[in-house]
Amino acid sequence: MRKTLIAGNWKMNGRKAMAVELCSDIVKGFSELKGIDVAICPPFTLLDTVHEAIADSACMLGAQDMDLHDDGAYTGQVSAGMLKDCGCELVILGHSERRTLYGETDRSVTDKTEVALKNGIRPIVCVGETREEREGGQVESVVAGQLRSVIDGVGIDSFADVIIAYEPVWAIGTGLTATPEQAQTMHAFIRNLLADRDRETASACRLLYGGSMKADNAADLLGCPDIDGGLIGGASLAAEDFLGICKAA
Ligand code: PEP
Repeated sequence: MRKTLIAGNWKMNGRKAMAVELCSDIVKGFSELKGIDVAICPPFTLLDTVHEAIADSACMLGAQDMDLHDDGAYTGQVSAGMLKDCGCELVILGHSERRTLYGETDRSVTDKTEVALKNGIRPIVCVGETREEREGGQVESVVAGQLRSVIDGVGIDSFADVIIAYEPVWAIGTGLTATPEQAQTMHAFIRNLLADRDRETASACRLLYGGSMKADNAADLLGCPDIDGGLIGGASLAAEDFLGICKAA
């Protein structure tokens, strides 16, 4: 049985006071919910603040990216060891904004996945196609390529600790959402891809949907058999919206 995970990706948003207030509201609302996992992924500057604010709850802390090196001369970067030190249990890797704006590649996502796992941090590996790729009929080949790179790199056995987020790029932050049918089709495709390597791992692996998920469309998406949760951007910045999704789950 896969436990639903709702993870909030705050992106480059938030200040300390806002983080404390938002976390306090989320923790209060989450305490009334049962049977789901919730994670908050703030910017690096707020990891400590959020860690403290959710300390007495079952909410998990995650980061939005990390460097693949350990400590050393890598100005501006943050390592997996540092994230662990801040209390992170999860890290988002290969988000489409990292891929398109900051040159993240399948190779670097694979390397980072390996490093995260080595440090005891569960990666949320993001995959997904652009609008042009969907219109060009390349959805499956693009997503399969992104995923196979990671499977080949870290091995299917490691996927016991990997979470996958299918995030069609055209749905991220645009208000456009994949229909439940479109999302389920891709989630089933991803699960089959994993099952080609190992059936048991495939059926245990959590597959999140991301792309303009909101309280009013969450129930339909999360009701799909292969959708095990959501990676939430915009709607994770308001407690009412985020908790609305958690309640739908
Ligand atoms: C995201 O950035 O991972 C995301 C899904 O954003 P949004 O919910 O705003 O589309």
